[in-house]
Amino acid sequence: MPTRRASGTSVESGTAAGGSDASSSTRFTEPLRRRLVAQAIDFLATEYELDAAQQRALHALPIVWRRRHGCSVFYMKPKHGFAGPHILVSVPRGATARWSVYRRVRVGLVAPPQGIEMPVALFAAVVLVHEFTHAIQHGVCGTPKRPYGEVETTDNEIRFIEKVAPDVHAQLLPLKAKPRKRGTGAGARRVRETRPTVPPEGVPPIWPTRMLVAMWNRLVLAPLGLTSAPARRCPAVKAPRPTRAG
Ligand SMILES: [Zn+2]
Repeated sequence: MPTRRASGTSVESGTAAGGSDASSSTRFTEPLRRRLVAQAIDFLATEYELDAAQQRALHALPIVWRRRHGCSVFYMKPKHGFAGPHILVSVPRGATARWSVYRRVRVGLVAPPQGIEMPVALFAAVVLVHEFTHAIQHGVCGTPKRPYGEVETTDNEIRFIEKVAPDVHAQLLPLKAKPRKRGTGAGARRVRETRPTVPPEGVPPIWPTRMLVAMWNRLVLAPLGLTSAPARRCPAVKAPRPTRAG
């Protein structure tokens, strides 16, 4: 049982090399990356009672680090020059990032719509918890396969934050299922468990972006004889801000 880390400062303290200027960017040096990976795996090792070999298998997963806003993804199949499972971690530039989570009633908590600002290093650790959870779901480290989904990843993110950064955890909001609509009779549909503010993985944000673009084209550009280029979308996730692990 690892000791309970006092707060997010265990992550944050490793990033203070850039000084106290909040606008300075955190450098993801090799030692920092290793520390973040170890912190994420230590947490999951406790959660899933992973033995030493299983933890080593997680440590052996290749990780591609990118300093940009965008998707973080766990890949089972060959990509990025890797023959098998690997993780892509995207961490926004700058000293802080906004953390958001999937909206899952079963998790019971959700980030506020604008996300929660946190040091980028802590953000990266949370992303790693998320993507390593997907690896565990796929049985990559030798444990039995688990159902693939975002309830478990989101739950783990939140439990990790509760452990290492209670001040951040305190900013999460309760999430309850919406009550059924009355009077809709036999046709009443079950209240959907999820109503993501950010589209789930693989689903492009077709609303309202597409509507707004169409309106912009029709009202502003068309009269000028112009059309706008389609917005580039991240295939695996999501709206521009805040950021969430994929
Ligand atoms: Zn995911």
